[in-house]
Amino acid sequence: MNKIDWDNLGFEINPADKMFIAHYREGRWDDGKIVDYSTIPIYPSAVVINYGQGLFEGMKAYRTEDGRIAMFRPRDNAKRLNNGCRRLCMPELAEDFFLESVKALLIENKEFIPPCGKGDLYIRPILFGSGQMLGVNPADEYTFIIFMSPVGPYFKSGFSGINLEIRDDYHRAPQFGTGGVKAIGNYAASLYPRRVVKENEYDEVIYLDAKTCTYIEEVGSANFFMLKNGVISTPMLGGSILPGITRDSVLTVAQKRFDLIPQERDIRYVEVFSADEVFCTGTAAVLTPILTVSYRGKRHTIGDGKPGGVTRRLYDELKGIQLGARPDDFGWFYEVK
Ligand SMILES: *Cc1c(COP(=O)(O)O)cnc(C)c1O
Repeated sequence: MNKIDWDNLGFEINPADKMFIAHYREGRWDDGKIVDYSTIPIYPSAVVINYGQGLFEGMKAYRTEDGRIAMFRPRDNAKRLNNGCRRLCMPELAEDFFLESVKALLIENKEFIPPCGKGDLYIRPILFGSGQMLGVNPADEYTFIIFMSPVGPYFKSGFSGINLEIRDDYHRAPQFGTGGVKAIGNYAASLYPRRVVKENEYDEVIYLDAKTCTYIEEVGSANFFMLKNGVISTPMLGGSILPGITRDSVLTVAQKRFDLIPQERDIRYVEVFSADEVFCTGTAAVLTPILTVSYRGKRHTIGDGKPGGVTRRLYDELKGIQLGARPDDFGWFYEVK
């Protein structure tokens, strides 16, 4: 293992030594195996390369303060991957096979889990059509790989926030498209809009619904939340929004631990300008405060333009549950031994 500088980790690929690889051939998955992280051979005619038949997942392993290894709701990632498999005509994985594979690899790579407070080990399962096909058809062979990479704390300079731009000239996902699953093509389509807003010094895009351009969908690869008068709102899932596990966790914690009123509903973008607090959620960032939201060149400051107090408390609560430092009556903390 190469020496890792634990104090200077970013969100970059820094592959752990081992990866897991399994193949689906002749109608069944093999047991898979743990091998050295390396390149993989692939046919030029593989369906994933030609037609984008592929999915990914994103999860993390945490080192707790007392040195244990933990994950957060990993079975939900298995379920979400299988939902995606159905949408993309790929063979599903048994949930236990998924979990056992992640755990076995995690044990092999455990020296790549950063010490508590220095970051986490990001876990990236991918599943794709590796069989050959000329016409647009599902592949007859599939590959499932898990690789891992230590990543730094999302907030290098403390709990700072981001500045976003609402765009009505690019959409992430249409109704009845593939926005509700982690299909790789969704992210290829988001590269250009992201480049456009970055050129204007915004951190990310806020997408509107593709049908009416009226309602908030989500933020690049994170779910959107707003707080107003004790009500915590997030766009309701309708197939175009990715059902984030962090999103679900925040809705639950907000209601059960903070007495906030959770609402999954249509949120008009104009409502956001007068919100008390706005933030986005995902495995990488947990909760990221949104300080300003711009639309058609006009910048709207949320609250006093600083990370919100409720956002901060929700972040601490969720992070505490993930690290086993706060009570978890939801069954989310998942220790790996
Ligand atoms: C992965 C992802 C999220 C966040 O999901 P989590 O399960 O919370 O990590 C949100 N939106 C998109 C588009 C995503 O790809």
